[in-house]
Amino acid sequence: MEEKAMKVALQTRAVHTADRKRGTGSTPVTTPIYTAASFIYDDIAELDQVFGHEKTGESYARYSNPTNRALEELLTDLESGAGALATSSGMSAMQTALHIALADRNRSVVASQSLYGASINMLMNIFAPQGVAVRFVDFCDLEALRSAIGKDKPGVLLMETVSNPILRVAQLDKIAEMARAAGAALVVDSTFTTPLMCRPLEWGAHLVVHSLTKYLAGHGDVLGGVVVCDAGHLEALRAYGRLAGPVLGPFESYLTMRGVKTFPLRMERQCANACRVAQWLASRPEVERVFYLADPKHPDSAAVRRLFSPGLYGAIVSFELLDADRERIFRFMNALRMIVPATSLGDVHSMILYPVMASHRDLAPKQRERMGIRPNLLRLSVGIEAVDDILGDLAHALQG
Ligand SMILES: *Cc1c(COP(=O)(O)O)cnc(C)c1O
Repeated sequence: MEEKAMKVALQTRAVHTADRKRGTGSTPVTTPIYTAASFIYDDIAELDQVFGHEKTGESYARYSNPTNRALEELLTDLESGAGALATSSGMSAMQTALHIALADRNRSVVASQSLYGASINMLMNIFAPQGVAVRFVDFCDLEALRSAIGKDKPGVLLMETVSNPILRVAQLDKIAEMARAAGAALVVDSTFTTPLMCRPLEWGAHLVVHSLTKYLAGHGDVLGGVVVCDAGHLEALRAYGRLAGPVLGPFESYLTMRGVKTFPLRMERQCANACRVAQWLASRPEVERVFYLADPKHPDSAAVRRLFSPGLYGAIVSFELLDADRERIFRFMNALRMIVPATSLGDVHSMILYPVMASHRDLAPKQRERMGIRPNLLRLSVGIEAVDDILGDLAHALQG
């Protein structure tokens, strides 16, 4: 795209940025999959300059690869970042972001207590044994957070834009101010919101993490992650990628870039469908409670309105079935004919997950209770299907 001439919207940049790089001769209209492990030049002096970082270019695939570079440039643009590293999974991105953020700071992390399960376990089972102090706090309680920051003097604050599965939204902008005042880095997992709904770097975060596996790739056929960072962390991110080698493979990069082109369209449709599904579920006698960001009685509705794009409330709807035990939940899930009972979210098809059995299985019942995850709670990731078909499938299963 001739960027010098035009300032265009995210939906436009998603299909143009970093693609169709002009070289010599013809230009492919999509970025090819470069499988080469190493790269050569006509003059060895040029390779010397690339190794010496005097010139941008490829030398070895762990350092950079043109397919990955295009994806990283695209995601940097969509997130308003200074640079990005595409990684082999969302968890690999999380690990990378934490290592970089902790590198020259106090080895202490204050994390949201309602993080993605594997992120909690990574802090407890990988970082804590290496001497990183870890404390979990309710990030929706700013006083509790302030007090934890005062006690621990953490090097890193770690949060998600929307918590899973009960969809709480902490005040990212205020927390970024607190992080800056305390000299801590703010790391934000924005998987649930995508850059269409929220761009944490614009609110003052230092590093943003995504599981590309979810909305950005969007078709349930890629495992990947990305760290997008501000200018202050870019050199460290590049160096970490080169040394630790958590990089994404070129096939996955290609598939992700293909997915990102349609993600704004998919996300808009999925959010619109989710709004309808949430309203419909709330009207059903079999449903005890619905969790959805558009609910005017949502405890964080002021933060939702302030931080997220207008009219977009995400595509996750969680709900509790009235008086349902495990058997009733299993019967309901078995009775679904279209909605896929799979352990992920953000795909084009609707998917349902039982947190007690899957994502939050390894937590003690008491800890689940504290997180508000009851045994009758289900999490629905709403897809792009015709919404009446989603409602029809739910209606059929509710009668089961
Ligand atoms: C899925 C997910 C991850 C982990 O991503 P993987 O690609 O599965 O490694 C991290 N955070 C959130 C919020 C997720 O939904």
